[in-house]
Amino acid sequence: MSRIRSYIKTFTLWELLQGLSVTLRHFFIRGVTIQYPEEKTPQSFRFRGLHALRRYPNGEERCIACKLCEAVCPAQAITIESDVSADGTRRTTRYDIDLFKCIYCGMCEEACPVDAIVETRIHEYHMESKGENIMTKDKLLGIGEKFDDMISADKAADAKYR
Ligand code: SF4
Ligand code: SF4
Repeated sequence: MSRIRSYIKTFTLWELLQGLSVTLRHFFIRGVTIQYPEEKTPQSFRFRGLHALRRYPNGEERCIACKLCEAVCPAQAITIESDVSADGTRRTTRYDIDLFKCIYCGMCEEACPVDAIVETRIHEYHMESKGENIMTKDKLLGIGEKFDDMISADKAADAKYR
């Protein structure tokens, strides 16, 4: 009996018709593909993209050079050097993040006691020259200043769910 069924299936191209029926069904289902970059999907306020260093509203650097982020980084992507500044506070003299090493885990942000290092929602960036993968302190502070509104809003949204 099963052999007869197998012959019938073979001669009626049953498997092929089954496959085509799947194609036909999906022909009328709304597509999920979006036309990036013209169209974009919603982003979480917890998206982990390009890093930034933040300042307080009075312009003072938040980072106190405690090096917790450097210690916790599983990829050893952060390099910090520090010194005592003129006002007696401890400040970084060097704060580099190697984006080629970074795995965007967010642990540096979690470890920071003063919300200085953050990962922003910026994900559209590229490098053209050797060495551009190193995010220096100046570059990180620049991103923090430029996108401060977005970072603050994301931090506030995040705090609601903690
Ligand atoms: S996101 Fe993770 S891997 Fe990247 S610098 Fe921070 S701790 Fe290191
Ligand atoms: S960014 Fe935060 S965790 Fe890292 S050294 Fe500065 S204060 Fe410490």
